[in-house]
Amino acid sequence: MNIAEMAVKNIENYGEYPFITYEGKNYTNLELEEKSNKLAAYLREQGLEEDDRVIIMLPNMPEVLISYQAALKNGAVIVPINDSLNKYEVQYVVNHCEPTFIITNVENEYKIPENCTGTIPNTIVIDSDEIRHVFKQKDCEAIDIVYKHKDDVAAIIYTSGTTGTPKGAMITHGNIHSVYLELQALELLGKDHKTLVELGFSMLVVLPISHIYGLTVTMMSYLAGARIVLMPRFDIEEIFQHIENEKIRLFSGVPTIFYRMAQYGQLKHVDVSSVKYWISGAAPLSEEVRKFFESQFKTRMIEGYGLTESTSSFALQRLHSIKDNSVGKPFPESDVAVFDENHRQLPKGSVGELAIKGPNVMKGYYKMAEETERVLREGWLMTGDVGYMDEDEDIFIVDRKKDMIIRGGFNVYPVEVEKILNQHPSVLEAGVIGVKNKDMGEKVKAFVALQPGKVVTEEELLNYCKSKLATYKVPEEVAFLSELPVNELGKVVRKELRKL
Ligand code: AMP
Repeated sequence: MNIAEMAVKNIENYGEYPFITYEGKNYTNLELEEKSNKLAAYLREQGLEEDDRVIIMLPNMPEVLISYQAALKNGAVIVPINDSLNKYEVQYVVNHCEPTFIITNVENEYKIPENCTGTIPNTIVIDSDEIRHVFKQKDCEAIDIVYKHKDDVAAIIYTSGTTGTPKGAMITHGNIHSVYLELQALELLGKDHKTLVELGFSMLVVLPISHIYGLTVTMMSYLAGARIVLMPRFDIEEIFQHIENEKIRLFSGVPTIFYRMAQYGQLKHVDVSSVKYWISGAAPLSEEVRKFFESQFKTRMIEGYGLTESTSSFALQRLHSIKDNSVGKPFPESDVAVFDENHRQLPKGSVGELAIKGPNVMKGYYKMAEETERVLREGWLMTGDVGYMDEDEDIFIVDRKKDMIIRGGFNVYPVEVEKILNQHPSVLEAGVIGVKNKDMGEKVKAFVALQPGKVVTEEELLNYCKSKLATYKVPEEVAFLSELPVNELGKVVRKELRKL
């Protein structure tokens, strides 16, 4: 069950139709399929073998999907990474997953490390003359899709899970296929998918498709015969233009985007009447933001909840039974349970750590057995989220056990930011936390104690962070303390920082 077959089935089911609209241009499903065949054949010629890792470091563009398909057809494992990562962050992933190929574009090519622990990967620059030539070749036969078992790994998605060190969640062909089946069972997009194509069912995608989210959105589109209007970057005005001009029916975003849309809607008249489904995920959607958005646009939102490790959402609100503050009910094939500190299962209504079991739970973390054991216990994926489930199976999240900060939908791990701050010659010790923020959900705040006799400005520290970290991880604010609260082991206690 190689998931690359879904694109083929999509063409069989719906024929040729515009699949992606990007920067004003349409790309049909057939066109994308042909391009992916050409790239697949080229990669094979260049030596790509089954189970090799292929890093895809690109901004949102149709070539992301073409590259996914090309690698998957060869039975290789895709490793999509956010192109806002910097050189050091890319180096980590390269050393860890030892890819044989990196697919990128001219703009991001400079980030590819010159030295790495494995063999030097082949670089494929998607907008180079060479690859343009590959895409232009005339005769290209469909290449045989390499057979894959459901437990074979299709993608490694780097996430920092509960602790902060980047880990590669191994997502199998079976995991992705199960999301496809779950979405089908939910009939989220209606029962008769054929009709949807005729209706021109379109979804607007503004979030980075390098995220696990990209894989599931594509899946949904293949399944429903839908069309994706893909945005290269976030732009509030363009979002509304697309919604109006392209008659968008499904919009999925993160709370920050919905908040900004509601603010914009207050100032300018916008027509969003074509949208039937507004789906929010990846971060807590506060009732305040939900009500603001819903009253502004006279509509209802649907919230989804999941993790990279669960191949994105495993719970979703159902449009006709939404409860305040709940993140929805589990997908049909997913079991959700709540555990106490001693890993004892708690009855309905009790608060503890949420865990999920089901066909969409990852295989484990790549080359990290210990970390895998910590989060996968007897088939239960421990989420690091604290919450409960009520009698109707509605899930409520009340807290986060992990220290992760979600800034505008992007995860920031305090440990990673602290590590960088601690490397600065003037810093004795740093502690990083998230502080509540209306717009971004949370913002990143650093507390710093300096080495005796050293002086440094906030600006200098922030510039230092900027040179080492992706922009979204750089703190918004630094507070200087004479010393940081530490525990008996000398570790900074973030809980105490939060009280400050
Ligand atoms: P990621 O692996 O990047 O998708 O992050 C997963 C984490 O995002 C979860 O463990 C939650 O802490 C958080 N999250 C995702 N969806 C929601 C939601 N609907 N409400 C609250 N937190 C969420």
